[in-house]
Order: sequence, then C-alpha cells, then structure tokens
Amino acid sequence: MVTFSQAFYTIKNNLAPIYGEREAAAIAHEVTLHITGKDKMERLMLKDQQLTDLQQRVYDASLQRLIAGEPMQYVIGSAWFMGKEYFVNKEVLIPRPETEELVDWIVTDHARSAAGLTILDIGTGSGCIPISLKSLIPEATVTSCDISTGAIETARLNAERLKTEIELIQLDFLNEELRNKLGIFNVIVSNPPYIPITDRDSLQPHVRDHEPGLALFVPGSDPLLFYKAIAIFGKEHLSPDGAIYCEMESTYAQECETLFKIEGFGTVTVKMDMHGNWRMLKATLA
Ligand code: GLN
Repeated sequence: MVTFSQAFYTIKNNLAPIYGEREAAAIAHEVTLHITGKDKMERLMLKDQQLTDLQQRVYDASLQRLIAGEPMQYVIGSAWFMGKEYFVNKEVLIPRPETEELVDWIVTDHARSAAGLTILDIGTGSGCIPISLKSLIPEATVTSCDISTGAIETARLNAERLKTEIELIQLDFLNEELRNKLGIFNVIVSNPPYIPITDRDSLQPHVRDHEPGLALFVPGSDPLLFYKAIAIFGKEHLSPDGAIYCEMESTYAQECETLFKIEGFGTVTVKMDMHGNWRMLKATLA
C-alpha cells in the first residue's frame, strides 16, 4: 500500500513529462483529494498514512489512465463550471473556463428582466450552459438539445444533482425538419462543434484521443456549418428582441461575424475571452 505522500508524488512525477511540473502537481492534488477525501493540508499532516485497500485500487486505476493521457476530469468523473461540480464522462466535453464567460454575458444581459424569458441551448454536452443559466436566471425557461443520447443522459444527471429544472431534447440540430419543431426563444446560445475533421491531427492528444468527436468535430470541412444552421434557425426562431450568443474559435471569429451579418442580423458584437482571443459573438436581428 502506498502512503498519501507517495501517491501524490508518483502521480506528479509520472505526469510532469506530459503536462509540465506545475500542471502535473495541480492534477496530482486533485486526484489525491478525490481518492483520499483529504485536502492538501490534511494530507500534509497524514502524509505517512497508507491508502486503504479500496483507495489503492482507485489509485492504481487512476494512475494508469492518467499516464495514458486521459484528462484528469474524466479520471475523477467530475469538473467544475461556474462554481458548481458536474459529472463528466467520455460522452461529453469537459466544460471550459471560456464558456463561463459566454454564460456570464447572457446573465449580465438578461438576469434583470427575466420574467418570461425563454432560452434555447444547442449542444448540451454536460449541461453546463443550460444548468448554469437556469440557476443564475431562475425565472427563465431553459431548453437544451444534443444529438448524443449519452450527453442528454449525463446532463439529466447533472440537472438532478444541481436541482435545476431544464428541458432536455435529443435532436440532430443539423436536421432542418427536426430543428424547426423547436419553438421561439428570446435567447439562443451555443458552443457548437467547430473543428473540421481534416484538422484532427493538429489537436492536442489529450483532447483528440479522449474527448467526444461528436462534440468537437464538424461533419465535413466547413468549420462554420453549425453557425450557419444557427443563423438560419435564428431568423425564424428568435423573438424580435432576442439575441444569439455563440462561442467560437478565434481563427474563425471574423468569418462568423460576417456570416451573421450576411444572414441579416443587424447588430453583431464579437468579444475576447480572458486570454485575449476573439471567442464569443452576440447577434441580434435589430
Ligand atoms: N455546451 C457544452 C459545453 O460547452 C457542450 C459543447 C459541445 O458539445 N460542443 O461544454
């Protein structure tokens, strides 16, 4: 049986070549906390304590998966988003901090006059966007759709765990006939897949080999495919005073902005994320 301290250092030393010293230490802390239930300070005081039989088994399995390059969030089965903990698994994308900024934008724009507000989120994943929106704007009615049944199930678990009532619909948004059955919304939000499958090799291995292809890749070679579908849908399904909010890859920011303008959106605003990358867009018809 290894001790608390040995567990931490073994994880850290094995991951340092993959992630660098600092990130390896951060991951090792999270994983050791998950296995032992003890935080950094408690573990420091108990550093020679041995793992129990069960903890040792979890540790052995976790270490193998981490060394194989699997993201820490999948190994421990959870990730944080806007101060709340979400179940994550291979069916869903790991929520990203950039997406928190997108949610923040919507909350800033709508929380004060939210009576009767209807929100549609396209591409549910873990449910991080719709669940955060519902908990931060409780008056809103929030609907979210995803093509993946695994994602819908995961989001349902998260909605229950975080006690939020949202409507989840399994639906292929690229199917025009199906998506047109959706109603009219004041807010449409999406962090859609935008990586052309032809760029697959340029992705970091821990993303490429472990996160769900359905959530990352656009079918075909057009990175704007989903934005086009969202813009076309928005023209029919956005209330006259409504707004579309999308997350995007900074390389395509300009093209996305142009696309929404060409589709007839009167005002299109593009915003940077905390890293200074053009990351999100807001489009209104007026
Ligand atoms: N909305 C989810 C997220 O931002 C899933 C996005 C996706 O699957 N492309 O994490």
